[in-house]
Amino acid sequence: MQLPSWLKIFNRRKPARPPSLTDCPKCGRQMDMIDKSTMSGDDMRTYRCEHCREEHIVNYGIALWKVLSDANKSDDDAS
Ligand SMILES: [Zn+2]
Repeated sequence: MQLPSWLKIFNRRKPARPPSLTDCPKCGRQMDMIDKSTMSGDDMRTYRCEHCREEHIVNYGIALWKVLSDANKSDDDAS
């Protein structure tokens, strides 16, 4: 039995590298994390690209402590 052509193409393709938040949006190089702040409830991290000599703030979304405290809050409401 012959496999459909689209399946062969699918198998041959290497999985694409997922876009990384830690890559510089300008040059695509890996950046170094220099700061992290979750005080606002968001997981904000500052990355620095040595190549561009620029810093980029990446928002990773809701900080873990915020998720946990919200979860605890809803537990209290339920009881
Ligand atoms: Zn860069």
